[in-house]
Amino acid sequence: MTKRQASTETATQARTVKARRRASEASAEPVVERVPRKRDARSKAREADFVVIGAGSGGVAAARRAASHGARVILVERDAIGGTCVNRGCVPKKMLSYGAGWASILSTCLSHTGGKEDWRDAIVRVNAEVARLNASYKQRLNESGVEIWHGEASFNERGHIVVGNEVIRAGKTLIATGASPIDLPVPGGELVSSSDDLFTWQTVPGSIVVIGGGYIAVEMASILSRYGVKVDLLVREDRLLPKFDHEIAAALAEALIAKGIRIHFRTEVTMVSQSNGAFDVCYSQEDNRGRTQTVRTQAVLAAIGRKPNVDGLGLDDVGVKRDSKGGIEVDRQFRSSVRSIHAIGDCMADNVHLTPVAIAQGRWLADRLFGRRGDMTDFEFLPTAVFCEPAIGAVGLTEAQAIEEAGGKADRIRTEVKRFVSLESRFGGVPQQSVFKLVFNARSGRVLGVHLMDGAAPEIVQTMALALRLGAKASHLKTTMPLHPTVAEELFG
Ligand code: NDP
Repeated sequence: MTKRQASTETATQARTVKARRRASEASAEPVVERVPRKRDARSKAREADFVVIGAGSGGVAAARRAASHGARVILVERDAIGGTCVNRGCVPKKMLSYGAGWASILSTCLSHTGGKEDWRDAIVRVNAEVARLNASYKQRLNESGVEIWHGEASFNERGHIVVGNEVIRAGKTLIATGASPIDLPVPGGELVSSSDDLFTWQTVPGSIVVIGGGYIAVEMASILSRYGVKVDLLVREDRLLPKFDHEIAAALAEALIAKGIRIHFRTEVTMVSQSNGAFDVCYSQEDNRGRTQTVRTQAVLAAIGRKPNVDGLGLDDVGVKRDSKGGIEVDRQFRSSVRSIHAIGDCMADNVHLTPVAIAQGRWLADRLFGRRGDMTDFEFLPTAVFCEPAIGAVGLTEAQAIEEAGGKADRIRTEVKRFVSLESRFGGVPQQSVFKLVFNARSGRVLGVHLMDGAAPEIVQTMALALRLGAKASHLKTTMPLHPTVAEELFG
């Protein structure tokens, strides 16, 4: 399958998504969900206290919070309300992952055939939930008094915001436009699908090459493999998930390989071509003296990072400075170099690209601009998860980061690693090792990092973030009563 889509049904759906965006781009008139207020008699521009560009998680949170403080808020979105998280990211990914989990559990232990036919069912459920969330977001925005405009926003030379034929003069503006997948920079890169495309597929291919070794590549490789797709994962590094602890990443690679995913480390993709309804992906591999090899496959997906969505906003015309990767540069209060223009979330390249981070930043900013001074969420202990199978959850420092923070003195850091097979996995009949790793200060015993590989890891790590934030020591974990039989008990007692 390509971006243009091999399957008719897929193409139909892809057309809907893209057509909506094209229509709104071409449209001269923005669709106004609420009746616009009366215009200022002296000017043709609409007045607003706060204009938010981008109705993703961060933008919606900021708009609603500002409106709750009495601000006149206009929220401009060119596509579906809810942004990446709801429409092309966290929500559909997690639901597909649930479906993949059930399909693979059933296929291993209850004689259900599982696999590809389950995708069709899963995608219907995903689309229903996404539609429910779109409607619910819209309703909550309307109830908050936020005006939603559908269209493409940009700044004019006077710093006003233009949407179709309308001009808005805003007291403050927030850019919360998010990010989108980076194209694969090789000949034939335009043939390759991204994670955005995957959520429009009505069927899955028989085989796929996934390029990348980060969050999205690992999650998609694991999800597709559980729906019965033969997966080759091409990774540039010598390990998966460079931001995670090396021991957990190594255990994950072993687990994925055991589940049938073929992982090719130290590979550099050089070209993609298409013939007779299939693709040839050429890559060189360090282990193979850089010789070029080719995989023939029915689909190719690249997940090699994301770039800030700032093109077409007219930022350079109004003098908004960019960061080193083309995103928006902001200070600690999310102010850009133009004082009235702010930015949060994934449109800053150096920001942590996670939904709750954008939401916390948006709410804090709205509180600060229009209400009481807000309490900033703590960003030091940031729990994160990779929703593959087995799942990864982590909070705090990796072993390597802890040693670096200790000035390179490895003896100041201790680790404890537990490997075990959970009851759930035993029931499944295919014993899968879980790995729990604690990183702590050798002298004080303070826990610096928790790194887990198990289906329950994301849920456990959320509460461990609180424990770390409160300064938990290894001795606290050892003297806390474990709850039996659970997976979490392996951290305690
Ligand atoms: P990541 O930054 O996680 O990983 C990108 C990967 O692609 C790296 O391994 C990188 O390797 C590799 N890469 C970069 N360029 C190339 C290339 N030309 N050829 C081959 N490999 C390449 O990006 P993702 O796209 O996976 O995800 C983007 C962000 O979205 C994440 O950082 C995360 O913040 C967020 N996200 C979070 C999720 C969650 O919370 N569960 C799920 C999905 C996304 P190298 O290290 O060599 O550059």
